[in-house]
Amino acid sequence: MAKKIDGKAYAEGLRARIAKAVHELKTKHNLTPGLAVVLVGEDPASKVYVANKAKQTVEVGMNSWEHKLPADTPEKTVLELVEKLNNDQACHGILVQLPLPKHIDSTKVINAINPAKDVDGFHVVNAGKLSTGQDSLVPCTPVGSVMLAKDALGKLDGLEAVVVGRSNIVGKPVAQLLLQENCTVTIAHSRTKDLPSVVRRADLVIAAVGRPEMVKGDWLKPGACVIDVGINRIERDGKGKLVGDCDFASCEKVAGSITPVPGGVGPMTIACLLHNTVHAACQQHSVPVPAM
Ligand code: NAP
Repeated sequence: MAKKIDGKAYAEGLRARIAKAVHELKTKHNLTPGLAVVLVGEDPASKVYVANKAKQTVEVGMNSWEHKLPADTPEKTVLELVEKLNNDQACHGILVQLPLPKHIDSTKVINAINPAKDVDGFHVVNAGKLSTGQDSLVPCTPVGSVMLAKDALGKLDGLEAVVVGRSNIVGKPVAQLLLQENCTVTIAHSRTKDLPSVVRRADLVIAAVGRPEMVKGDWLKPGACVIDVGINRIERDGKGKLVGDCDFASCEKVAGSITPVPGGVGPMTIACLLHNTVHAACQQHSVPVPAM
């Protein structure tokens, strides 16, 4: 049976190291990193994410601001708020919770954030820097996924990696990070022919599809490491349940290691957001980034 990769424990350890780094920044440099989160509308899942982000930001000793705007807020008002936060010296990271209501152009809003404060790493400047191997703020879920893969496998150098999914938020940035780790990377998507045989080549599979339990155990090379990014809510036996993009029951019989859902990649996302905020604060104040 595959070793279960414990993302919850890894994220707890990372948050403890971040809290130590924040303490060091306060005492040595009089610098308290600060994160502002903007939520437009009443999406229930987004409200839970934003509340968790704020709670964990405060827990590691950073400043946290929540800006909650009604669903009918005009795009111009959101852009004005982003500009205000761009000019706020105490705020080092800005996160606009997606999805935004349909009347707001999310690309326009994300690209209005100062790239140095774009702790989600979605700004076109940060995406471009990542793809050209320059230092940048990198999207949180991809960073967390690669941290867990490295924890399970050690060096990723030379491994065959297959990323299923090519979104700007997960698939593409995770593929860029794996290239930086010297993997041979294949990106699969909805038009890929014979997906099971593509996945079977992989020493490392990263599934970011949004289709419940799509990747089956008999698609895997025996001993492969499986990082399941998917979060899908399904009904089973009359009850609501969270499942990943991989069929855990069949995959764990073939894989060498695998992340569960929940408790795998999910907890890493906020921890990596806090990590990015510390980086952003240090860069904005020309202070060395403490070890985390
Ligand atoms: P997305 O934007 O919907 O992208 C899904 C990708 O999967 C697309 O590239 C799509 O291909 C591909 N795809 C869809 N059906 C496929 C199929 N049958 N075979 C092969 N590829 C297929 O989703 P996302 O934002 O990347 O999110 C993916 C999953 O990760 C979701 O379950 C989401 O909830 C989860 N997620 C989790 C976290 C976390 O914190 N753990 C964060 C972000 C996302 P095309 O491009 O060809 O359409």
